[in-house]
Amino acid sequence: MRSQDHDRIFLSPPHLGRHELNYVHKAIEDNWVAPVGPNIRGFEQELCQYTGAAHCVALNSGTAAIHLGLAVLGVGPGDEVLCPSFTFVATANPITYLGATPVFVDSESTTWNICPVRLREAIEDRLRRGQKPKALIIVHLYGMPAQLEQVLAVAAEYEIPVLEDAAEALGSRYDGQQLGTFGAVSVLSFNGNKIITTSGGGALLTSEARFAQQVQFLATQAKDPAPHYEHSVTGYNYRLSNILAGIGRGQLELIEDRVKKRREIYTWYHQHLQASNLLQVGPPEPVGSRSNRWLTTLLLAPAQTEVTVERLRLHLESHNIESRPLWKPLHLQPLFAQAPRYGGAVCEELFRRGLCLPSGSAMTDTDLKRVADAVREVC
Ligand SMILES: *Cc1c(COP(=O)(O)O)cnc(C)c1O
Repeated sequence: MRSQDHDRIFLSPPHLGRHELNYVHKAIEDNWVAPVGPNIRGFEQELCQYTGAAHCVALNSGTAAIHLGLAVLGVGPGDEVLCPSFTFVATANPITYLGATPVFVDSESTTWNICPVRLREAIEDRLRRGQKPKALIIVHLYGMPAQLEQVLAVAAEYEIPVLEDAAEALGSRYDGQQLGTFGAVSVLSFNGNKIITTSGGGALLTSEARFAQQVQFLATQAKDPAPHYEHSVTGYNYRLSNILAGIGRGQLELIEDRVKKRREIYTWYHQHLQASNLLQVGPPEPVGSRSNRWLTTLLLAPAQTEVTVERLRLHLESHNIESRPLWKPLHLQPLFAQAPRYGGAVCEELFRRGLCLPSGSAMTDTDLKRVADAVREVC
């Protein structure tokens, strides 16, 4: 970080350990400075070991992984894809890359993720209109596992394949099983702000060998077998660099520490801020779930009329503390003004009342205290 930023508290900055440089050093020494090499294979195997996934393809972003994941599920021009409205735009943009249309579904208020009741309503209505959705995207926002049992049951009932966007949720579990293993294809992100990072990067996990093979093929320019370059479908240049995979291997060694620290940060904020009945630090984990607590969030109570999210954000900013409103629902984005949607009031309310607090795993007790004091000055 720049020197004038030395006392700035960021939302979720990179947190490097001791081993990343060893992997990068070895890659350069051995001249594996390319989107092929032993760190890529190693990173993929280690991600499979950690999550329990059968197959992994390392890619240069989570967005690229969503793009190719939807492609191998057969999404194409004219199709519709079900997607939560309450998420980052990168969840939905790849639907558009493929010439398909997102159909937005509201959140439920326990985990803030896609609502199984609204989901069924959306599917029934699309079926009545003669448009069976081609795929469903599930997101685990801020690391909190979605209500998978109910949501996956609806998807199975209508035989709609699931892409699991676990970009924010590496290290979270549902019923003891790692997130990133619940979709026909699942996606991770290693962007600079995520719980572990390769600066930029992503991965696709799947239990099906054919999906992994297709994704690898599409990610490396779709070269048909031939001595020259022969192509029969459109490919992409989406593979992760061997240098960055080296950073990823060093980071992945630390994942359990990082989850532990983020969970401690959530608990600390909860203990020090929850006492005020003007705000809620939350949401709590449903029984059987473990959230990695990627970001701790705060909701202003409905009774709270004096203080707005923007006033609180600006106050934190005046103390050189970065914070950010919760995701603005995608159905409110000008980009998606034409897209169909089912419900929306739940996530609109969360957006109006919610703020993400600094949650980086390198935060000290002094940093946490500075944030809590600044919040208390306003609330
Ligand atoms: C970060 C993120 C992505 C995109 O990942 P990139 O690696 O930045 O492309 C997708 N979905 C969600 C929910 C994210 O938070």
